[in-house]
Amino acid sequence: MAHRLLTVPLTALFIGGALIAAPLSMQAASAPPTAVTVCLDPGHGGSPNPANPSQPYDSGAIGINGIEEKNLTLAVGLRLRTLLEEDGVHVVMTRTTNTDPSIYQREETCVMAKAALFVSIHFNSFTSPQPEGALVLYPKPSDIPFATTMEHALVSGLAKWNIANDGIQFDGHWWTHAPMPQVTVESAYVSNPHDAALLTTTTFLNADAAAIRSGIEAYDPTILHIKPAILAWRTAHHEAPPPSTTTAGSQSRTKHSSSNALPLLLALLVVGGAAVLLRRALPKGSIRIRGSRPARSQTGLSRTTLRQRHELLGKRHSSYLRSRPPEAQARRQKR
Ligand SMILES: [Zn+2]
Repeated sequence: MAHRLLTVPLTALFIGGALIAAPLSMQAASAPPTAVTVCLDPGHGGSPNPANPSQPYDSGAIGINGIEEKNLTLAVGLRLRTLLEEDGVHVVMTRTTNTDPSIYQREETCVMAKAALFVSIHFNSFTSPQPEGALVLYPKPSDIPFATTMEHALVSGLAKWNIANDGIQFDGHWWTHAPMPQVTVESAYVSNPHDAALLTTTTFLNADAAAIRSGIEAYDPTILHIKPAILAWRTAHHEAPPPSTTTAGSQSRTKHSSSNALPLLLALLVVGGAAVLLRRALPKGSIRIRGSRPARSQTGLSRTTLRQRHELLGKRHSSYLRSRPPEAQARRQKR
């Protein structure tokens, strides 16, 4: 009896819900153009913590004027993120604060994000003040084109500051496992008086970020090719540049504007109310409410899978680090 009495209101509820939900599903169908994902890795980071002696930290090189490499890399990385996002790039960062992720955590962040490009940001240092200029390191032969393009962009973008062109250099002991094209950018020497003075100015750090962006966009023309479509989509959806992400997929990049929130809420209320009424109206057991899915990480992989992958990366790295030649380890100390 109750079933029959509820038939008319239920039908009305479903039609109402469908009318509201239809435009929403059409909106969902117009997904944003697929952005290029770039992973940025500001080198070093962290501070000593007396309360937690095991906390990792690494200031990087200390400049002759006291500047710390870890702060410079983060400043340039954050600025570069903004510049790239303005061009429609999906930026993933290995760190956004004063922390020191391990080498495999940094690599894992970029790999899990399926980044198209991987850029580590460092600054150079030497035991004497003479060496100066911009150097781009690459970890595998297939990265030479990216490194060459990046070096040209640096020299061109920083020309007015007379930054010397130190070319590109193979540095295979650093990032060796990430599959995407990758470079380590060392735009100036903190140990050189000329370079170190420039590095204290926001103007130069911003110019460095802009030069690196030019290198990225010159190497991957897709970014500027799809930029108009992405910006048009953002305008149509009243969407600002996506929020920053620290790790792969840590935040949803699709935001609903406030104008979309109300109909969505109404649709949920109508459909939810209809479901409750339907459950009451129908015999027990005729509707099965599906249980929630097993918890998954924000990267889309289960925690177990992530842990296994992390252990695998750790094993590969530890065996790799043991196999490094002494001179490579010495060079690593320099950086
Ligand atoms: Zn460094």
